[in-house]
Amino acid sequence: MLGAKTVFPVFEFFHSFQGEGEYLGRSAFFIRLFGCPIRCPWCDSAGTWQSDAAAEVKRLSADELADMAAAAKPDCVVITGGEPTIHDLTPLCDALHAKGLRVHLETCGAFPIRGDVDWVTLSPKRQKLPLVENWARAREIKIIVDTPDAIAEWAEKIGEHAASSIWLHPEWSRAEDPEILGKIAEWICAHGAPYRAGWQLHKLFRVR
Ligand code: SF4
Repeated sequence: MLGAKTVFPVFEFFHSFQGEGEYLGRSAFFIRLFGCPIRCPWCDSAGTWQSDAAAEVKRLSADELADMAAAAKPDCVVITGGEPTIHDLTPLCDALHAKGLRVHLETCGAFPIRGDVDWVTLSPKRQKLPLVENWARAREIKIIVDTPDAIAEWAEKIGEHAASSIWLHPEWSRAEDPEILGKIAEWICAHGAPYRAGWQLHKLFRVR
């Protein structure tokens, strides 16, 4: 039975600031869970699903994670991965809420979200598109712009699905590519809200 003693495979946990999205620059405790079946070619956290990293993964209970997060006194706890929704997050969310912590989730949206989260950042991936129910739960959408045509491609898929912000992030290996940056700027000027230009501030600061 799931509960506070339920154990999760944890690739890493750390206290930093949120480098992206609406909560940019806010104190955040990150819990990066192991495992992802999507396997994007440009994944910047590939260690979370590569089999040679599995031996290093810590097994920590919902209670242990909540204790560590609470000790950090962050503005929010970000559950990320890998793809965290391959796990039933209910006991972890409950343990974090029991400590009075705000729970954020970063997901590709391709699997059901199990657990009571306060904020969903949905970053869709071509390899496995989000479930309709998850588009609806997204408080913000983060598009990774990896090709010049990616924004138009995703705009068509997003269609009527509402989110207060749709962030356009250059894929990190092309973060200084004038063609990609130009396309983002062009799109923002042509379409305005809810589109917003995004960046990964933590990488600029060289922190996790
Ligand atoms: S869904 Fe996320 S964690 Fe999984 S491979 Fe893609 S970028 Fe990496």
